Amino acid sequence: MKLFKTIDAMQKWSLQEKRDGKRISFVPTMGALHEGHLSLIREAKKHGDVVVLSIYVNPAQFGPNEDLQNYPKTLDADLDHAKKLFVDATFLPTDDMIYPDGYQTYINVENMTKNLCGASRPEHFRGVTTVVAKLFNIVMPDSAIFGEKDFQQLVTIKRMVKDLNMPVEIIGHPIVREPDGVAMSSRNKYLSDEERVAARSLNQSLEFANEMIDAGETDIKKILLKVKERIKSESISKVDYINLVNANTLEDLKEFRRPALLAIAAVIGKTRLIDNHLFE
Ligand code: AMP
Repeated sequence: MKLFKTIDAMQKWSLQEKRDGKRISFVPTMGALHEGHLSLIREAKKHGDVVVLSIYVNPAQFGPNEDLQNYPKTLDADLDHAKKLFVDATFLPTDDMIYPDGYQTYINVENMTKNLCGASRPEHFRGVTTVVAKLFNIVMPDSAIFGEKDFQQLVTIKRMVKDLNMPVEIIGHPIVREPDGVAMSSRNKYLSDEERVAARSLNQSLEFANEMIDAGETDIKKILLKVKERIKSESISKVDYINLVNANTLEDLKEFRRPALLAIAAVIGKTRLIDNHLFE
């Protein structure tokens, strides 16, 4: 596996691969890789001749009181995983390279970033779209894989790519869960045993809503109330949001209509977790 620590080296390699007629498939991550990330890498193999992984904890997508300083770092294990999955190249940029002195260009997808996570993390998606656009310019992928766990991120990136005519196919990949249903996340590492049990209630409440909707319930207020009741637990410090939205626009639904997304964010102890269920 090639390891690139400069933008120039990464770009040169990608250009050569493209000249050789290879399709590049790309998986951007913040590291601390788990089975969710690994499944994106496996998916990437289906969409390209060569796979590029990036590991970069992007400061621009963290708010002032968020976990940037404590974000888990497991670089050696990450590189072992990447080698075992035959990733062709891993890109490891630093903050100085991505945001050099004088940096002042940001990308903002305006509407669909206001609801859900955007409401409590106002700068977050601007940071995400900016770094993803930069990574696309550096890696020059033909396709890029993003998890549906961060559904708002996935649709926001799809919108950016469409709006800015970027020649990249964006592929969504379903949420990978632990055996007990908790969505895999690098942040699960922060949870105490008790909090880990509380974390199950996110997926459990989504499943409960799914059953209600399968049984014919269409009253959104009723569905959201039941989900809220299910999620209540002493270890859950705060439910940030529970929303049923149009899965394409992310606008709140007034009446249930597919494709819909039931999305949840909750703070468990000090850890903010998100989860969702897609009604296709
Ligand atoms: P992160 O390192 O958290 O920025 O995530 C990198 C990519 O992995 C994003 O596209 C995430 O949506 C995706 N991802 C993270 N956790 C999961 C999961 N449990 N299932 C599927 N994709 C995931």
